[in-house]
Amino acid sequence: MRSIPFFKPSIGKSEIEEVVDCLRSGWLTTGPKTKQFEQEFARYLQRQHAVALNSCTAALHLALEAIGLKAGQRVVVPTMTFAATAEVVRYFNAAPLLADCRADDLNLDVADAAQRIENALAAGEEVVAIIPVHYGGQIGDVAGVKALAGKYHLRVIEDAAHCCPAYYRDDETSPWKPVGAEAEISCFSFYANKTITTGEGGMACTNSAEHADRMRIMSLHGISRDAWKRYTAEGSWYYEIIAPGYKYNLTDIAAAIGLHQLRRADQLHDRRSRWAGLYLELLGDIEELVLPTIRPNRIHSWHLFPVRVKLDHCDLDRAEVISQMKQAGIGASVHWMPLHLHPYYRRELGCEPSDWPRATAIYPELISLPLYPDLTAEDVEYVCRNLKEIIASSRVAVPGADFSAVET
Ligand SMILES: *Cc1c(COP(=O)(O)O)cnc(C)c1O
Repeated sequence: MRSIPFFKPSIGKSEIEEVVDCLRSGWLTTGPKTKQFEQEFARYLQRQHAVALNSCTAALHLALEAIGLKAGQRVVVPTMTFAATAEVVRYFNAAPLLADCRADDLNLDVADAAQRIENALAAGEEVVAIIPVHYGGQIGDVAGVKALAGKYHLRVIEDAAHCCPAYYRDDETSPWKPVGAEAEISCFSFYANKTITTGEGGMACTNSAEHADRMRIMSLHGISRDAWKRYTAEGSWYYEIIAPGYKYNLTDIAAAIGLHQLRRADQLHDRRSRWAGLYLELLGDIEELVLPTIRPNRIHSWHLFPVRVKLDHCDLDRAEVISQMKQAGIGASVHWMPLHLHPYYRRELGCEPSDWPRATAIYPELISLPLYPDLTAEDVEYVCRNLKEIIASSRVAVPGADFSAVET
């Protein structure tokens, strides 16, 4: 039997050698390799500034700090996202305003968000920002979010955790842009199972020198580098604390991995795209499955390959599908249980599942299949063959073709 884990990072010889070089250099924490990683990442994303951090969660937190989020304010967040996107809002005692997803790509539904903003404003609340997520690496309604932000004066902080790299354009005649090129601040994740990894790590990208400075200072105890420069005459031990900051800096050991992952990002993306294409081809004829929609003018990062099992067409539930896949040696996962179904947000925001009808209905059907560069065509074929068999064996008989009922 094959063993196909849900995810395997793709670490090459160059990453390993760079880490060894880092260890031998005697400089382990934030230093020259982090600086170089930031420069190369900013160039890759066509951004002025990239601030390396120890997670995307830290990047989102510092981004909200940089725009001055205040207690009591609301931030639009899709309910179909990972914990991090909303918890950072709670760090400020502000509250997420959870928006439902669109059915085809599970990204934030701008019309739904607009309605919720109107309701919040009518209730006297202050809605100040929006954190769009690009689900699985499928780029959401960028133009719609931009228009919404314009109308309601929202700051746009992009959760681009799945998007290194992903590209979009406004129409067939416009130039391609990488995700992360436009929002006020865009946040990337280099967690172990993301498209490129540093083990743990993240990056905040922006064209604002002021935001970049603030995030850098707050990522390291609120210690001002300017003060440090001004007083170097005092000696290199001198620093000034200008705010109670955090400890979010990236280490050079991690940056050593990131440098080579970034240089291989396009190649890793090509391989994921190939396996996604093969999945689409091999699973296309299973009528019980809804496959990811490919929207025009988008280049998907293929961080995830989520399928929906139409449960009303099958005689089993999602947990059984996953457990049968596991018995066949295949790892699968779920992205995600929507935030409004979690006990914390149900309690804090008084959520009723029916208030987010699409995410609530789609969630029980979602399964993410293994997708990473080091898969083989045989692996993908094996996953598809098994999934087909599991579904075929549970197929609900078409009315009229149910011969078992005829027995007397
Ligand atoms: C992984 C993830 C994050 C958090 O990334 P970390 O680097 O682990 O902090 C944030 N948002 C989304 C959508 C993610 O999938």
